[in-house]
Amino acid sequence: MAEKQKFQAIRGVRDLLPPETALWNRVEQTAHDVFATFGFGEIRLPIFEVTELFARSIGADTDVVSKEMYTFVAHSSKYQEELYSEIEEAYDDSIRSGDENLFLTPARKFIDGLEASLKGGEIGLTAGTEAALQSLTSTFRRYEQALEDPNLKGEPELEILRHELFFGCWDCPLGETITLRPEATASVCRAYIQHGMHSLPQPVKLYYLGPMFRRERPQKGRYRQFYQIGAEVLGGTDAPAIDAEVIEMVVTFFARLGLEGAKLDLNSIGCRECRPEYVKLLKAELSKPEIKDKLGADSQRRIETNPLRVLDSKLESEQPVIEKLPRIAEHLCPACAAHYASVKHNLVLRNVAYHENWRLVRGLDYYMRTTFEITAPGLGSQNAVCGGGRYDGLIEILGGLPTKGIGFAIGEDRLILSLQEAGKSPAPRRLDVYVAWMGEKTYDTAVRAARALRGAGFAVELPATAQKFGKALGHADKLGARYALILGEDEVASGQWTLKTLSDGSQSKFTEPQLLAHLKL
Ligand code: ATP
Ligand code: MG
Repeated sequence: MAEKQKFQAIRGVRDLLPPETALWNRVEQTAHDVFATFGFGEIRLPIFEVTELFARSIGADTDVVSKEMYTFVAHSSKYQEELYSEIEEAYDDSIRSGDENLFLTPARKFIDGLEASLKGGEIGLTAGTEAALQSLTSTFRRYEQALEDPNLKGEPELEILRHELFFGCWDCPLGETITLRPEATASVCRAYIQHGMHSLPQPVKLYYLGPMFRRERPQKGRYRQFYQIGAEVLGGTDAPAIDAEVIEMVVTFFARLGLEGAKLDLNSIGCRECRPEYVKLLKAELSKPEIKDKLGADSQRRIETNPLRVLDSKLESEQPVIEKLPRIAEHLCPACAAHYASVKHNLVLRNVAYHENWRLVRGLDYYMRTTFEITAPGLGSQNAVCGGGRYDGLIEILGGLPTKGIGFAIGEDRLILSLQEAGKSPAPRRLDVYVAWMGEKTYDTAVRAARALRGAGFAVELPATAQKFGKALGHADKLGARYALILGEDEVASGQWTLKTLSDGSQSKFTEPQLLAHLKL
């Protein structure tokens, strides 16, 4: 007998079940409500995008892009998949039979198919795909000519050309390389450009919520499918008041949820002018033997790849060394220093408490100037619930006009964990009325009663099959119902329905309109 297969959600992803989903809904509804009061509109984004969008914005050397993305080639049509297998078979056949001609027709068909898909927009026309088409066409022509040349018959040149043509086809991206989004800022910027939002009144204020995907080591507060709630402000100005208001919005949202003990860390990481200077200085300092030797292997490696990340180290033994390193606040250019001072002033104006943390750097390449992170209690070492900052160059990198931008992303899973730890889960919705109908003749009345009660907003359980009185009341109790509406043949005949209060067992009789009026009290 075949063994029954037990399916399980894959590692790092999880189901969210009731009653916990009630808390998720409360958090999301609060986000909609609070963000609307700040003039933000919701944007709903696709869950996958072309890989290049993330590679270019987040940065190829970051952890996210270099090792955490879920990327795959999406064949855009069945037809294209068939082309691949046809060409593979034809190549094998021509090798086996020694008949070069067997490969010619499928190769032609493959190239025509590629050309048509590029023209029809099924495959994105990029420098890569265009070059692939050109090179395949030229290899094909050489192969065709060589086949007609009697001097080349049976010569290794033919075989080499066929080989080249086959691998040219094989490597050719018949389909787009797409990635499940690891974050949403890149998509928001892509959408801003795509829909010409620069011609809307500026700044454009958008928020989003939904799942993100990163292939990380799963642990408490770290999942492979996790949820973010984020917002972005895009437009022509980088006025520090915008930074402060965005932060004020997150803080207001957290306060509305009753999240206590959240801590806001703030820093400025400078701009394209002053940061490289500081990084150079930091690198020189870190490279001094008396400092380098005191660092662990990870930090030593980062001196070369990304010295700023050394500041992020949590390693106990490195702390005394790091504390003595030069600080970016002392190396900001005058414009960045003034911007940072004004952000702080604007936060004070809004009663937002912050903690300056010169070691706060962020893991994505696009950040500049203002960066911030909010941590919350009850989360162990994954205690960051929100990360954000300014990314003024990003829209331009993605092909748009020069635009300023700032935003944040809240880790909804961690926010929920922290609220749960603090006992902030809402009481689950109670069942109001259990309709205990008895005897087939009462069923149509029971259906009508359930519809009227639900129409008035009550939560109603209408059992699908007839039950004996005792069993029905036991079931109502288990479901935690407040009332049982008892509909026996007597009740239906007289139009006087019995309502039993389950907490004390008391009973009263009502007509249908009286019952609705009574329950609404
Ligand atoms: P961390 O340092 O915790 O890895 P990060 O810097 O990678 O976070 P961001 O990319 O800035 O995080 O994302 C913003 C927020 O999203 C984080 O502060 C966190 O709350 C949440 N987050 C990020 N990765 C995950 C994950 N794998 N699982 C759950 N939440 C996550
Ligand atoms: Mg991370």
